[in-house]
Amino acid sequence: MLSAIQVRAQVIGCRNCELAAKCRKPVPFDGPFPSEVAVVGEAPGRVEDEQGKPFVGPSGELARSLVEPRLGQVPWLNVVSCFPNRTPTKVEVDACNGNLHSQLALIRPSRLLLFGGVAAGAFVDGYRVGELRGRWFRTPVRGVDEQVFGMVTWHPAAVLRNRSLLVDVLDDLRTFRESVGTDGIPPYVSYPCVKCGSVVDPHVTDEGLSWCGKHWAWKIGKIGKGRKKFDGRVGLFDD
Ligand code: URA
Repeated sequence: MLSAIQVRAQVIGCRNCELAAKCRKPVPFDGPFPSEVAVVGEAPGRVEDEQGKPFVGPSGELARSLVEPRLGQVPWLNVVSCFPNRTPTKVEVDACNGNLHSQLALIRPSRLLLFGGVAAGAFVDGYRVGELRGRWFRTPVRGVDEQVFGMVTWHPAAVLRNRSLLVDVLDDLRTFRESVGTDGIPPYVSYPCVKCGSVVDPHVTDEGLSWCGKHWAWKIGKIGKGRKKFDGRVGLFDD
């Protein structure tokens, strides 16, 4: 396993995509480790780029003001480490995947709080935040042997644009906090693999399936058939 110094050097030295040449420098995670909880966002904004620290700009401050009183001091990181000055592309998220997982391998969380669709897409591909939010799903994290569970909620920038989303975020944080410190397996939803459709690990409840274990992307239904609509039942989607 890489040391903290090595992980930070990996992130800061990354030149896996063109973003590194356009930002000041990649922004590594900030906060304590190991940690039961890790908070994962999209990418640094302008202020984060200037300060070299995640979640310190306007939407980051909102996120910290919601998370820290409920979960205490936790590590903060992004699925893309460079300031993109726009929404990062899938290619950029994929290029940064090694940085994401090296940082998570150091933090060794069992609970991930994911802010927004881009962060969610690095773990569960092909769903909208509105379909995923507030429910646990299980996800493999490279270098972490223990089971890891993630929960998606709205991105703080979306909340700043549309204040009515705050109610959802507070709801999601309540569900999230209930499971922290319990060591147990939260009731989770899962999704057939988008690549092979297989489900290898039987679910703990009657309702859900589980992650593929081989591939890193999931989606309900077959590829090419288009998006399927969530029908309101946990783990079940209609045509
Ligand atoms: N700040 C970050 O570093 N990431 C986000 O996703 C939002 C704010």
